[in-house]
Amino acid sequence: MTNECVFCKIVSGELPADKVYQDDMVTAFRDINPVAPTHILIVPNQHVASTNDLTDADEQLAGRMLTVTRKIAQQEGVAESGYRLIINTGPDANQVVFHLHLHLIGGQKMRYPMG
Ligand code: 5GP
Ligand code: ZN
Repeated sequence: MTNECVFCKIVSGELPADKVYQDDMVTAFRDINPVAPTHILIVPNQHVASTNDLTDADEQLAGRMLTVTRKIAQQEGVAESGYRLIINTGPDANQVVFHLHLHLIGGQKMRYPMG
């Protein structure tokens, strides 16, 4: 947890966000600058900067981030049409927010890679 982390503040409710899901381990909300009709960010409730900071003790958390995608994709109506899951880590991946987040992107046909 850092005082300046925007995603920590979204998790706690200190900053507004269009939340679509929250449980004891993760929170999901709409990306403020969506790249597709559906663009959700799934983040740990606790501060983890990136995948470089995940430890063996975080296996349940990392698993939860992945298993909630099914529920959110169904909720968003993209489970059947399909979606892409992306985690950016570090400079080469253009990670901008250093609170781990899984992008769930869908609602349109996508090329690979996105560039
Ligand atoms: P990254 O490049 O770090 O993987 O992506 C960060 C994502 O967070 C971007 O898609 C950006 O639009 C989104 N984002 C940054 N700040 C905020 C915010 O305050 N609220 C929301 N909802 N999304 C944000
Ligand atoms: Zn944080």
